[in-house]
Amino acid sequence: MNDDGAVVVVGAGHGGFTFVTALRQTGFTGEIHLIGDENELPYQRPPLSKEVLLGQKSPEALAFRPEQFYEKNQVTTSLGDGVVTIDRDARSVRLRSGRVVAYRHLVLALGASAVQLPIKGSDLPGVRYLRSLADARHLAPAVHNTSRLVIVGGGLIGMEVAAAAADHGVVTTVVEASGSVMARAVSTTIAKHLQRLHRARGVDLRLDTALVELRSNESGSIDALVSSGEVLTADAVLISAGARPRTALATDAGLAVDDGIEVDEHLTTSDPNISAIGDCARFAHSRYGRIRIESVQNATDQARHVAARLAGSQHLGYGAVPWFWTTQFGTKVQMAGICTAEGQQVTIGDIAEEKFSVYRFVDDRLVCVESINAPGEHMAARRLLAAPDPITIGHVTAVGFDPKQLAKTMGPAQP
Ligand SMILES: Cc1cc2nc3c(=O)[nH]c(=O)nc-3n(C[C@H](O)[C@H](O)[C@H](O)COP(=O)(O)OP(=O)(O)OC[C@H]3O[C@@H](n4cnc5c(N)ncnc54)[C@H](O)[C@@H]3O)c2cc1C
Repeated sequence: MNDDGAVVVVGAGHGGFTFVTALRQTGFTGEIHLIGDENELPYQRPPLSKEVLLGQKSPEALAFRPEQFYEKNQVTTSLGDGVVTIDRDARSVRLRSGRVVAYRHLVLALGASAVQLPIKGSDLPGVRYLRSLADARHLAPAVHNTSRLVIVGGGLIGMEVAAAAADHGVVTTVVEASGSVMARAVSTTIAKHLQRLHRARGVDLRLDTALVELRSNESGSIDALVSSGEVLTADAVLISAGARPRTALATDAGLAVDDGIEVDEHLTTSDPNISAIGDCARFAHSRYGRIRIESVQNATDQARHVAARLAGSQHLGYGAVPWFWTTQFGTKVQMAGICTAEGQQVTIGDIAEEKFSVYRFVDDRLVCVESINAPGEHMAARRLLAAPDPITIGHVTAVGFDPKQLAKTMGPAQP
């Protein structure tokens, strides 16, 4: 890293905020500039579909730190003024306002945006998306004050909103095109458990059902025509059909992009003066191969990794064990590791008591553990997955298996 200009971070979300904080904590004394297109101080995103909709937290309470924090740490912020172009030759970025900011190193932490469905009526006034604080302010009245909500997409956000809406007594229907909820994120054992939970709490779950069209009707409500031929009438519709990495800025700047901004094991893009982290980056994980992960852990661990690398104290590649959580109807689901194939599974614990873990294996190697209301097992699983030696089905099915004890006997965690 040369000495001219600031370390500039584009994207003031989980990754951007953690990066500027971590870089200052390394003792870096140069200029740091955090640029965000949302007109908000950096804030926590997960509560948008949980505590905010449940009425347990106000949107205003989500900021990581007050304004003075940035002044005290000498982090210049430009909020509500996103970057529109990167000039790699001049090593500068241009903001929407026309301002140009020079960088010595640029970190892209651009996040992901909600997938817009190319479906007739998806732009009607009662149709909502949920990615940002502004979206949550718009969605909250639909969850608190309407009587019928249709949610299109049974992924993480759709299911969390369904739980919050049903808790508020809203008649809630989830329309999911595949045969399972959260199919990309969890095993069928966990998906089925969540499906039972939602149905028991009154959520009308329509699997193998796709949205065909949305129409506004004479009473001011929305009619959702679905693939079964049925019409579901709602006061509001949430489309939660997944997210896409924000890559346009990188593509326009000529950086390598393929379902995310391509970075190497050090999280450097095809330009050594630019790094990318979090939801927008596709990276080489030492254990899971090329991958893009949408989670708070991934964005914040990558932010700390790049901060340490720029400060000269990190020379290894990035390889943290991914982990993730979701809370629905008070049930806490925690995932450690990643599993994209169904593979072999061992379930330990009591499903009826709602306290169990699913250990998932590929080629007799533990790759992922999903825990329901078992935080101790989840923490142990993270250590097991970081261990240098593989954990096999034999380990987990052995008499007296205790993940916490086993974790203690494994060697030091691999990076
Ligand atoms: C409703 C919701 C619930 C979630 N729940 C969970 C959960 O329970 N657990 C979990 O682990 N993860 C959860 N996630 C995912 C998690 O929030 C993200 O993975 C995480 O925020 C990624 O951090 P990031 O820094 O990559 O992106 P973000 O936090 O999304 O920040 C990116 C920022 O960059 C800004 N930006 C984009 N382009 C520009 C530009 N050109 N100029 C300036 N700024 C720009 C964006 O507006 C945004 O503010 C949830 C996400 C949502 C939306």
